[in-house]
Amino acid sequence: MIPRPDQPGSPASALDARLAHDLRRARPTFWANPGRRPLADLAGHLAGCAAGIADAEGRLRRMAPVLAALFPELAPTGGVIESALIPVPAFSARLAASGVPLAQAQVLVKADHALPVSGSIKARGGIHAVLAVAERVAEAEGLLEKAGEERLILASDRARSVFATYTISVGSTGNLGMSIGIAGRALGFRVVVHMSSDAKAWKKDRLRGIGAEVVEHGGDYSAACATARAQAEGDPRIRFIDDENSADLFFGYAVAGGRLATQLAAMGLAIGRDRPLALHLPCGVGGAPGGVALGARLAMGDAALTFTAEPVQAPCMLLGLASGLHDGISAADVGLHGRTLADGLAVSRPSRFVGRLIAPLLDGCATVDDQELCQQVAALRQDQGLRLEPSATAGVASLRLLLTSPEGRALVERLRVDLDMDRAVHVIWATGGSQIPESEFSDILRRAGMVA
Ligand SMILES: *Cc1c(COP(=O)(O)O)cnc(C)c1O
Repeated sequence: MIPRPDQPGSPASALDARLAHDLRRARPTFWANPGRRPLADLAGHLAGCAAGIADAEGRLRRMAPVLAALFPELAPTGGVIESALIPVPAFSARLAASGVPLAQAQVLVKADHALPVSGSIKARGGIHAVLAVAERVAEAEGLLEKAGEERLILASDRARSVFATYTISVGSTGNLGMSIGIAGRALGFRVVVHMSSDAKAWKKDRLRGIGAEVVEHGGDYSAACATARAQAEGDPRIRFIDDENSADLFFGYAVAGGRLATQLAAMGLAIGRDRPLALHLPCGVGGAPGGVALGARLAMGDAALTFTAEPVQAPCMLLGLASGLHDGISAADVGLHGRTLADGLAVSRPSRFVGRLIAPLLDGCATVDDQELCQQVAALRQDQGLRLEPSATAGVASLRLLLTSPEGRALVERLRVDLDMDRAVHVIWATGGSQIPESEFSDILRRAGMVA
């Protein structure tokens, strides 16, 4: 079939015709990024990134006692929010049996679905961003004057009464609102979460239950964000945490890269040419996967490969990178409606800030349909006992398409020049799910044809 040429001058006309055709048909697609560059070429482009990550690491360290005081579940780790990196041998055998040529590759799951406090990858960036607001407000209000590095005062009644005069506002498809709502309310802030109306009811209920205000928007996610951003402008008492533009969110996510390197090393998996790493990262607006990709690349170098995975109906990062237009193109421009069961990934326009930053870092982008997401939820449940939400399994498709699609296989052959791809460590980043209510989880399993 001949690809339909897009109208000259339309955003979609900036895409390769065959790629546009596949995306338009909502087919699972793999795109290899021709713009990927070695780190050695990127010193100027990445200026300030290492410092941004170090700053976030420092903040998480000095604020850890505050988190430990606010959240009893963090007491065992002294306030550090981190997840396990787990081998998944049965699931890996299932992949191999289904024709994914794993050779001597290893498959691991990064268990962010079980991150403490809010049960998703948003606990990294979102809580870090709230801590940054808390520190700045505390400094402006003189709460930290004599305290030096000591931050425990931020969990005091005095601090709470000051924070109560400030509002933290955020636009969210669900999980970001949960992380920011939980952390913001725990510190005593007023919290307003702007959500698209298709966000999950249980997430809205839980937010209201902890005293956050939920504002529902009829339009899509970008529209909800735009309204929230406009309301916060010019009001110093409203701190808007901007999913599309926040450096605090982004660098909070990026801290995961260095921690992952430490976890891999502790498992005897030092990453290098003879053992490359491939990260498979579910992607919405781009902040979480982009941050993790940046952090991993800076921590482990060019042998750390990074891929995003998006719903076939909302492949915004793929569109933005492949066209070079970033937020100048949307899912609707290729005729996609943007709706998906993967609510954490239901984003039709990518972050320009993140897209421009990761354009030379990312190795590729994959898309996945809702049916496969549900099937992988069921498979990871059955094989490994994991409780994941559909968004969290998108990385499985990225791994599968990298090793089985013509575009993915061609990329693997090119990478073989430098890297022993047969011995790669593939990390499926499981981004959320442990807090899904039982009834929702059974629905997903039923959709996959598995009796719950
Ligand atoms: C938000 C989210 C993502 C993607 O993060 P972005 O910053 O939007 O790209 C992936 N998985 C889950 C479960 C999420 O909640």
